[in-house]
Formats: sequence, structure tokens, C-alpha cells
Amino acid sequence: MSADRAFANRRRLRRAPLWAVLLLLLGIAQTLLVVLTLNYEAARAQDQAEAVATEAASALRRELFGTVQSLQSLLWGDPSASQWRFDAAEMLRARRDLLHLERRDDAMALVEAVATPYGESPFRWLPRAQMLVEAEAACGNARRTASPQFSRSYFVPQAAGLGEEVIDVCVPLSGGAAGFMVATLSLGTSLERALAAIAPARRHEISLVEGDGTRLVREGAVRGAGVYRADRVVDLPGVTLQLRADSVEGHPRLIPNLTLALVLGLSLALTAVVLLLARDVRRRARAEAALAEALAFRKAMEDSLSTGLRARDLDGRITYVNPAFCAMVGFDAGELMRARTPPYWPPEQVDEYARRQALRLAGERAPADAREGFETVFMRKDGERFPVMIYEAPLVDGGGRHTGWMSAVLDMSAQRRVEELSRQQQERLQAAARLATVGEMASLLSHELNQPLSAIASYATGSLNLLERPDAATPGEVRQALARIAEQAERAGRVIKSVHDFVRRREQAHESIRADQLLDAVLPLVRLQARKSGTRVEVDMAQPVPRVRCDRTMIEQVLLNLTRNGIQAMEADTPLAERMLTLRVQPAGERRRVRFAVIDAGPGIGDEVARKLFTPFFTTRREGMGLGLSLCRTVVEQHGGALEVDSRRAADGRPGRTEFAFTLPADAPRAAVVREAAAGVGGRAD
Ligand code: ADP
Repeated sequence: MSADRAFANRRRLRRAPLWAVLLLLLGIAQTLLVVLTLNYEAARAQDQAEAVATEAASALRRELFGTVQSLQSLLWGDPSASQWRFDAAEMLRARRDLLHLERRDDAMALVEAVATPYGESPFRWLPRAQMLVEAEAACGNARRTASPQFSRSYFVPQAAGLGEEVIDVCVPLSGGAAGFMVATLSLGTSLERALAAIAPARRHEISLVEGDGTRLVREGAVRGAGVYRADRVVDLPGVTLQLRADSVEGHPRLIPNLTLALVLGLSLALTAVVLLLARDVRRRARAEAALAEALAFRKAMEDSLSTGLRARDLDGRITYVNPAFCAMVGFDAGELMRARTPPYWPPEQVDEYARRQALRLAGERAPADAREGFETVFMRKDGERFPVMIYEAPLVDGGGRHTGWMSAVLDMSAQRRVEELSRQQQERLQAAARLATVGEMASLLSHELNQPLSAIASYATGSLNLLERPDAATPGEVRQALARIAEQAERAGRVIKSVHDFVRRREQAHESIRADQLLDAVLPLVRLQARKSGTRVEVDMAQPVPRVRCDRTMIEQVLLNLTRNGIQAMEADTPLAERMLTLRVQPAGERRRVRFAVIDAGPGIGDEVARKLFTPFFTTRREGMGLGLSLCRTVVEQHGGALEVDSRRAADGRPGRTEFAFTLPADAPRAAVVREAAAGVGGRAD
């Protein structure tokens, strides 16, 4: 955990310079953006001022030339004095920019003058004679060039300390008369007229200035900021005017631009976030679709299962059941989940099951038997009890917490029915076989009991004779004869008892038993039969003597059948000296099983017989029933083993050899078994 954190920290540290560089670059880019924007704005404002100045200058020029032409029209056709006066007055009324018109002779003496009807004459406060310098210079030029000439502009005072910048135009008279017409123009009104002809320049102040920058007249409702200015020269005959356009815009300000940049940046960031979100939503939708599919798949799987599934929380309450479980117990999912005590617990077992469940819930891990499965009894809704097999595993949530138990429940009733049927069949078969064996044994017994009985009879007769001649007989001789009688009777009793025991013993339980005890139980009967045909019986027992776990009676019967077959096989053709039956016991399968072999020196088994060997009722003997080997195989297979046969046919005067062998599960020695039993703990939950 801490190693993970250290690794993450190192990675973060390695990335830190990259982040710093990225932020620096972003900062530089942002600053550059702002500076470039400011520069662009300044350049744009300057360009605008230049364009406005150019346009205004040409408009003013056009206006003034237009004025000159109008003035010239006053002189066309050499008008009479009264005519001129009339026309001049007319023109003054029509044009407010014309303030004063006069005619002068060649020596600049005033001939006639007409003033504007609007307001005062410009020369009311200061007489014209004092302001004639500029007009005289212009007329001098006009005489020289024989064309209209403008004078320099000059200021005429007016009432209330006001005044106006004016300019004179001197138009030389043509034709016979010598002299000039001098018009006085208001510069302000001329500029106003000129600008009215073009698009109104609302964002700029237009003015006429002197060389030193002194403003003569200005036009427009706005004031220039003095930052973006453009000057243009208006060339007129005789004089040059300087026109200036001054933008109302000041220096571009940083703050609104920074805000702009911020807004831009934020909107970019917002777009990025929206894109990321959209991608996230798409991914989420895909994941949800996959999840829904997986859920549907899981549901279909659970519904199609024939195994019952049941989940319980740590308090033992049912949190989930699948349809197969509901069908098995007959209760629906709602009933099962609501119930405090599972309704499928048989009422008579509730206390026991509750105790086992408490034991289970107290533990963290499933006891070994829960994973391997354990058997218990449940009850259906109709009250029927049925066996089930339960496999249980802990439920662990995403965070690794143990939240309950998941169990797979198998209904064993069908299997139990089949098992019961086969058990009954087996039992019937075994009973038949046992009876057959017993029948044979009965004839053997009669033969065998003959011996002790006839011995008893002769000892009894001898004893009686001795008692009839008390003089000749000693008490010792009589006691000896009686002891012999008792001995023989006891032996006869043992023989009978062994058969009786064998027939009576019916318990099925698998038990742990030493291999030699198994052989000891059958050997008296085996020897009894062997002696009849002069067969020797040899026991080859592994050391230490292994223990096996088996159904004792059944295995004894297997051994009896195999030994009897062996002895019978040697009866016909095997020479007396070769008649030897071997019983061999040895460990097998890495000591987890024990191998039992019955070996005879009979003629061996031919192919024809070998094929049918285990078929029930197959026999080659007249008195045989043909059930022995088939029964043996069933019993051995019930013990998880196989009955094998290995045979060699007799040839060239040599006897054959037949070995029937099977294995049984080995059992640990007593001490280990006790220890295991002590260690095997863990409650079950039903
Ligand atoms: P039964 O003993 O009643 O004939 P079994 O099933 O025990 O029935 O045996 C079937 C047949 O298998 C016997 O009739 C015999 O021919 C043959 N058989 C069994 N054991 C041996 C053996 N050790 N050697 C040769 N043949 C054998």
C-alpha cells in the first residue's frame, strides 16, 4: 500500500515541471494575445482616423471649389451694378457660408458691398478697412494669375466676445471692367457643409488647424481624444489649409481586453469540459448497456438452472432465491424472504437447524463439509419431507467484506429413490446367493460334522464300556474319553457357529477393520472346504497389517466365493501336490487402497468362459448357480474398486494359474483416526 503511494508521489513529482512549463506557456500565450489585441485595436483606430481625414479633406476641397464656381457665376455676362447687387443678395440668402460680398476696383477701392442677411455683417465690430490685408494679398495673386485666389484665413470678432474664422476669395473681373469681387467665407460653415455631404463622422472630431496646431475651426458634436490623429493638407489656390481628424477613442484599455481574454479562455475551457462530459456520458451509456446485458444473461442463467440457489445475509435472512429453489420447496420468493424462520424447515427440526445455523453464522469461513456438500432434509409447502444436498460458499462484496452465504441446493429425492430400489435388489440378490452358499455349506457341514459326531459316538461307546467294567477301568481313562467327547462337540459347535454367523450377519455399515481379521473370519470355512479336496491354503499378509474400511459381511462373502471357486477349479485336474490356494493382501495405490488376491493353480479360464464370467447365472458347474462372481463384482464396485481377473491356461502338464483380485479403501491406523475425529469440527447450517 505504502509502496503504491510512494510510486504515485514520484510520478506526481516527475510531472510537476511539465505542468509548470504548460502553465508558463499558457501565461505567455495569454499575454501575447492581449498585447496583439491592443496593437491591433490601436492600428485599426489610426487607420480609421486616416481614412476619415482623407475623405473630409477632399470633401472640403470640393466644397470650396464649388463655392468659387458659384461666385464666378455672379460675374457671368458682366452684370450691371444693380443686377450684381441683386444676384449677390440672392446668393447670400441661399448660402449661409457666404458672409460678405463686395466689388472693388483695380486699386482695391470698395465699389459695392452686400452682407449676409443672417446675423451681423462680419465687419460690424472691426471695419473692413482694417481687415483688408489678407484680401489685398489674394487679389494681388488673382491679378497675377487672372484666376480666383484664396486669402489666408483670419479672425473676425463678433458680439459678446465671440468671433469667427473667415477666409476671403478674390475673383478677378473679366472682360472690360477691371477690378475684383471679394467674397468672405465662414470657414466653419464651409466645413459643416462639406461634411454634411459625406457620411457624418460621429466618432471623429474634424478641425482645421494652423501649422503650429492651433485649432481654427472644429466641426462635429464630439471631442477628439488626441491619441489617434491624422492631418491632411487641403490645397487651394493661394493658400493651404490643414485639416485634422481626431478620433474620440483613447488608448486601448487593458481591463476590457483582459476580460475578453478571460471570457474567451473560460468559454474554451467550458467547451472542453462539455466535450469531456459528452465523452464520459457516452462511455457511461456503453458501460450501462454492457451491464444490463450481463444482468440479463445472469438472470437467464439463474432461471434456466435446475439447481436451487439461495443467498442469506449474516443474520440468516434469505436475500435471494432463484426460480428452481422456489419450485423445489413450493414457496414463492416473497414468502421466503419475508419469513423469519425458513418455512422449508420441518417443524420438528427447527430447533436443531437454528442451532446449526447459529454455529455457522458465528464462523467466518465455510467449514470443509459445506464446500464438499452436506445432506439434510427440507420440507415442501405440502408438508412432504425430502433430502437435499447443500453446497455453501461465503458471499463477498466488491469491497472484500463478507456479507453472507450463497448455497446451491440439490433435490436428492429422485436419486434416493433409485438408490433405495437398487439396494433392495442387491439385498434380494445377496440373500439368494447366501442361501445357495448355505445350501452347499449344509452338505459340507454334514460331511464335516460326521467326523466329530462319529468320534463322539465312539468315545461315548468306549466310556460306556469302561463304566460297565469298573474293575478294569480307571477313573482317569473315563475322564480322558469324556474330555475327547467335549473337544469334538466343541469343534462341531464352532463349525456350525461359523455358518450361522455368516448367514445371520446382515449389518451394512462400513467399518474399519484389520485385513487379517477379515481373513480370520472366513478361513475356518475355507479350510473346511479345502481339506475335503486336499488343498493347502496359504496366507501372504503384508506387514504391518493394513486396515480397510468396508462392509465386513459382504467382503467376507466375496472372499468366500472367490476361495470356493478357486478350490473347486483345482478339484478336477490339478495334481494333489500342486493344489495350493493363496490369499494375498498387500498395499496398493500409494497405500490409499489395499489389494486382496485369491490365487489358485486350476486349469485357468478359457476365452469363451472369460467373456461371460460376470454374467449372472452363467455357470459351468452342474450344481452351480452362476451368481457368485456377478455378486462379487457388484460388492467390490460398491467399495469403489474393480474385480480383476488374470488367468493362464494349463499347458504341457503344467497347471494353470488364476488370480482374482480387488482393492478396498485403506483406513488410517486407530490412533490417527481418533485424532482426525477430534479435529473434525464445524457446525452445519440447513
Ligand atoms: P458358480 O460358482 O455358481 O458357477 P460363479 O459366478 O462363481 O458361479 O462362477 C461362474 C463360472 O466361472 C464358473 O462356473 C466357472 O466356470 C468359472 N470360474 C470361476 N472361478 C474360476 C476359477 N478360479 N478358475 C476357473 N474357472 C472359474
